[in-house]
Amino acid sequence: VSFGARDVDENEKAGLVRGVFDGVAPAYDVMNDLMSLGVHRAWKSVLLDRLNPQPGQRLLDVAGGTGDVARGFLARAAERPARGRPSASATICDINHAMMVAGRDKDGRAVPDRVCADAEALPFEDAAFDAYTVAFGIRNVTHRDRALSEARRVLKPGGRFVCLEFSRPVTASFEALYAAYSDAFIPRLGRWVADDEDSYRYLVESIRRFPPQDAFALEVEDAGFARVKVENLTGGVAALHMGWRI
Ligand code: SAM
Repeated sequence: VSFGARDVDENEKAGLVRGVFDGVAPAYDVMNDLMSLGVHRAWKSVLLDRLNPQPGQRLLDVAGGTGDVARGFLARAAERPARGRPSASATICDINHAMMVAGRDKDGRAVPDRVCADAEALPFEDAAFDAYTVAFGIRNVTHRDRALSEARRVLKPGGRFVCLEFSRPVTASFEALYAAYSDAFIPRLGRWVADDEDSYRYLVESIRRFPPQDAFALEVEDAGFARVKVENLTGGVAALHMGWRI
């Protein structure tokens, strides 16, 4: 794994990823809006559309950071008629405490539970959740296969897996434009807004190293998920990978 100019091993990567998010936590939400020109909100909204949250459901949002997905899940489930069902619940699990603290009580709405843990070793019982989400988190995990197998383990049979992640633009010309934007704009933005160019360089690099749509879909299938589907967002800049635990 290369981290900036250096090569590092897997164990070191986990520590460095933690350091990156310690550094970016206070400015994370602002940077997210600036870097994606606000589009990450639309992508998260599509994720929630596909999930179709309902009262009574339990969500685990892994690498949940400041909690956009978990909060959106609770808000949408609360809009649905209860029909005797209890309220939905949501748990944010993140390896980085600073990220979860940065998102605390962000908008005064229902607050999800927070658990500080690694996606590769979840401190939850088997079959505890109806839905598992991971948004812009799986590419930071050291062993994706372990995280995916944990996702399957904590889901109930019939449970839903939805992953939102940066992916590959589907046309060559768009890919070239996007590469130029990533190299020229994002590290500079990191320097100006968060005074942290290296962390944002790491983000660009981690996006490039992440497997393209089809290859990641195979990893999700290999983890035992059924009916795996991919949906490209904004021409493949991001993608949803969805599957069912049967
Ligand atoms: N899901 C949030 C969102 O979409 O706004 C946050 C995404 S942020 C880019 C990535 C998050 O992954 C960070 O909060 C980081 O601490 C977390 N993370 C990185 N490696 C992790 C791991 N192995 N297990 C759990 N969380 C991890």
